[in-house]
Amino acid sequence: MKVLLIGSGGREHALAWKIAQSPLLATLYAAPGNPGIAECATIVPLDVDDHAAVSAFCRDNDVSLVVVGPEAPLVAGLADALRAGGIAVFGPSAAAAQLEGSKGFTKDLCAKYDIPTGAYRRFADAAAARAYVAREGAPIVVKADGLAAGKGVTVAMTPDEALAAIDDCFDGAFGAAGAEVVVEAFLDGEEASFFCLCDGVNALPLASAQDHKRVGDGDTGPNTGGMGAYSPAPVMTPEMVDRTMKEIIVPTIRGMAAEGHPFQGVLFAGLMITAKGPELIEYNVRFGDPECQVLMMRLESDLLPLLHAAATGGLDAVTAEWRDETALTVVMASKGYPGAYEKNTPILALPADDAGTKVFHAGTALKDGRLVATGGRVLNVTAVAPTAAAAQKAAYQALDRVEWENGFCRRDIGWRAVARERG
Ligand code: ATP
Repeated sequence: MKVLLIGSGGREHALAWKIAQSPLLATLYAAPGNPGIAECATIVPLDVDDHAAVSAFCRDNDVSLVVVGPEAPLVAGLADALRAGGIAVFGPSAAAAQLEGSKGFTKDLCAKYDIPTGAYRRFADAAAARAYVAREGAPIVVKADGLAAGKGVTVAMTPDEALAAIDDCFDGAFGAAGAEVVVEAFLDGEEASFFCLCDGVNALPLASAQDHKRVGDGDTGPNTGGMGAYSPAPVMTPEMVDRTMKEIIVPTIRGMAAEGHPFQGVLFAGLMITAKGPELIEYNVRFGDPECQVLMMRLESDLLPLLHAAATGGLDAVTAEWRDETALTVVMASKGYPGAYEKNTPILALPADDAGTKVFHAGTALKDGRLVATGGRVLNVTAVAPTAAAAQKAAYQALDRVEWENGFCRRDIGWRAVARERG
């Protein structure tokens, strides 16, 4: 099978690494790719915003599956354009990608199909939203409806904070994404991420993970795209997984099909495990980054038939086997991230991969044959081991062999899982 992978981050390097191990693979192409992905795929100079050019490349090169990593091309309709040309795609249509692209859309779906989530209201003007907050009080959560790179959400501990967030949204702080606002009840509990593959009709549970969004140790400082993750999430016991499938995932897949938007691809549920059980915070329509890296480290099964079944149907006939171990990844970022940072700083050495550790490239490039850091989040040093403590130790041992003066990382990734193990 010839496969084209779209994307250039650590998530896509992990997908490329795993797809490249498949005995079913003939050729793996990637666009735009990165130096890590180039070790396991042929990089092709395709503009992924040019849907006609991507379709033509697939036709000319007999590509039978396109795997889309990030959400932006999905929301822009890349999967629709490819499917219209008869090319199988791992990733949802633009209509189904609304599960990520519009928080109001997802909340309405939850209400209609009785999926547990915080009580909410949608607002198109500030006065009505302000009146609702005045009535409901705090804590309360204010969200810009559209994609705002994780910055459109305010968990307000006081009514004043919520009112300020409402004003920000309607004053254009998030552009078109804030033209509508969702105000929802604060959910109290522990967060976890849960991933499933879907083929429009069936859902195949993958695994759970937890990430660390804040830049600083002890979960302090500003939010980032994610400074590390581990899988599984200890809070996702078999009972919680079961309830999540029955109460959240299956009704979502049925609801999307009933609404005429069958969901194909990976469904990433952001959950709050409350005293009542799992409740939905949000959906994403692609793998998490860096959660994908830890899932791929734990996945024993061949990934390619799973992605192909999600794209073409028949997920009920496949299974996914997992290492009964913990995988943990630590993100190395450029000093200054998530604020301004220097680009093109040299990375002089990386540790060699072995059976239990792997460095994924997220924001690197080759300049004159030398590896440089080009992004905020640059490397994902990943390990798998029998316990969270052992995975944490192995990841940091490998990370300490990275020679990159302008890099930094958190030193406590996995603290919650390690503390649980200690009892
Ligand atoms: P991200 O890109 O960070 O996932 P997002 O913009 O898609 O963000 P959400 O995931 O909906 O937004 O919210 C971001 C964070 O805000 C959540 O991870 C969670 O910590 C917190 N949060 C969101 N909704 C609630 C809620 N109802 N109760 C408590 N916390 C919440």
